[in-house]
Amino acid sequence: MPDAPVLLIVDDDPQARGVVERELRKRYGADYEIICVGSTDDPLRLLAKLRDDRRLVSIVLAGQSMSQLTGTDLLTGTDLLARVREFHSAAKRLLLIGIDEGYGPPPEPILQAIALDHIDAYAARPVAVPDEEFHLAVSELLAKWARSNVPRPEVMRVVGDEWSARSHEIRDLLSRNVIPFGFYPASAGPGKALLEQAGATAATLPVVIMFDGRVLENPSNAQLAEAIGMRTSPGGDLYDVAVIGAGPAGLAAAVYGASEGLSTVVLEPEAIGGQAGTSSHIRNYLGFPTGVSGEDLAVRAYTQAWNFGADYVYGNPATGLRVRGPERVVTIAGGDEVRSRAAVIATGVSYRRLGIPSLDALTGSGVFYGAATSEAKAMKGREVFVVGGANSAGQAAVHLARYAARVTMLVRGQSLAESMSEYLVKEITSTPNIVVRRGAVVTGGAGTGRLESLTLLDQASGVTETVPAAAVFVLIGAEPRTQWLPDDLRRDRWGFVVTGPDLMAGGHPPDGWPLRRPPMLLESSLPGVFAVGDVRCGSVKRVASAVGEGSVAIRLIHDYLRQLTGDL
Ligand SMILES: Cc1cc2nc3c(=O)[nH]c(=O)nc-3n(C[C@H](O)[C@H](O)[C@H](O)COP(=O)(O)OP(=O)(O)OC[C@H]3O[C@@H](n4cnc5c(N)ncnc54)[C@H](O)[C@@H]3O)c2cc1C
Repeated sequence: MPDAPVLLIVDDDPQARGVVERELRKRYGADYEIICVGSTDDPLRLLAKLRDDRRLVSIVLAGQSMSQLTGTDLLTGTDLLARVREFHSAAKRLLLIGIDEGYGPPPEPILQAIALDHIDAYAARPVAVPDEEFHLAVSELLAKWARSNVPRPEVMRVVGDEWSARSHEIRDLLSRNVIPFGFYPASAGPGKALLEQAGATAATLPVVIMFDGRVLENPSNAQLAEAIGMRTSPGGDLYDVAVIGAGPAGLAAAVYGASEGLSTVVLEPEAIGGQAGTSSHIRNYLGFPTGVSGEDLAVRAYTQAWNFGADYVYGNPATGLRVRGPERVVTIAGGDEVRSRAAVIATGVSYRRLGIPSLDALTGSGVFYGAATSEAKAMKGREVFVVGGANSAGQAAVHLARYAARVTMLVRGQSLAESMSEYLVKEITSTPNIVVRRGAVVTGGAGTGRLESLTLLDQASGVTETVPAAAVFVLIGAEPRTQWLPDDLRRDRWGFVVTGPDLMAGGHPPDGWPLRRPPMLLESSLPGVFAVGDVRCGSVKRVASAVGEGSVAIRLIHDYLRQLTGDL
């Protein structure tokens, strides 16, 4: 199988290596080339050769003890795995440990390898036959690898200008919603041919050509959703709960609402997973010991809510909310109304803008707000900047560093540790192509059709310089997405929705509160309208807390609905 993707085993224990090889051949031999070596075979040179031969490496499995290595500074499996991505940026890395090491807490080198993202997982070498635990670890990594490395039939072909903002938005939307697509620059041969076949012109870019030949010229999000059979208006007449926003908070509300017998609809104009969906690696969410990608988490939660019977309405943002007797009515773009007995606002936050006109004009054309994981591969070999010093900026920098020639982080404060988790600070300081510039701010940028340079001001010296830049990713805090809400729904001065006890002043509910009982924990100043996750005033900006609030809101909605029907 000369061109099959490679599964590479590196282990110095010949007997253990033989067992791993036999197990992998049995399960994966038809689709992958299995290469098995010891450390004396110079695995780094082998990785380099495979790269030069343009071979895909899907997983490198390495035994932790490789004491025989000579001539290099590699001493252990974690040392080797830490270097795999220098040669194969997409390869997954599985550390093999002895069965006797699998019970207690992992030893320090393994903990460190996880913290520094030098391995993707660790597993005990197979002992029993068949060893399903071992195969599960391998299959999970292969599935993750295959998702972005094995070509899948394209459901949509997007033809557009590489650096146009709408073209970027569509690519981002499709990749965050896990829809297989191909992008074809309109200026290159295949893109031109596709446009001609579709009878479209460059004037209507971006053009999306569906698998069945349908052509969408500069489509809206709703038109894209409709084209793949998603609902863009409500299917039900009156729902028990309308959840507005499908980030972690909204998806949790949907899972709990639908699973507890409430007819539930979720409204999402962009992509499932919200901000979490843009995170390449969430390390601190319960139940994923070596982390989970935001995309993975979002797809799982979305499917879970779907399986419990939740409805989704895509592509049209909520534009208004009003109380009509016992109903809570949400208006969506396009004019449709979603009627429900209770509503959950879970619209999260969006990234604060730089407010520099020359850069605003290049949004999506080299200037990106948020992590924009879909752009990372396009940054291969380029000079990339990340503005911000919090965890989201740190994660973006680490992810981009896998592809970019160099990632420069522009941080206002004097130390990353002031605003970032320790594990990320360690990861950043140990990634050679990330440079951290403290006290530097962006004051301008330029480019023809796409970003080409940034102007930076060193605040300490007052010196301004212009540097070449292919892209800047801006992650400088966030604003709540609440502009669409009515004036009588109470918000704090930054626009976050005020809920529960925070609405009480001197022991009294807010003006206009119509009930004798005070607002419930997550209830807004409109009875029956709850707010959860990042959009809520005082919320902890974490995936787990958003999920927790989504589930608690459903419990409160049960009480609210019982009160409505006079059962309480
Ligand atoms: C890059 C990055 C990395 C992160 N890493 C971590 C991490 O490692 N650990 C951690 O705990 N947290 C992390 N966070 C924070 C975490 O993702 C957020 O706290 C969490 O996503 C908040 O969830 P949410 O559902 O409240 O809001 P969001 O995730 O913001 O979701 C809101 C959703 O509402 C939708 N929406 C907005 N307006 C409307 C409207 N008008 N109508 C309908 N829908 C609308 C949006 O499209 C979006 O899908 C990270 C955030 C980012 C950006």
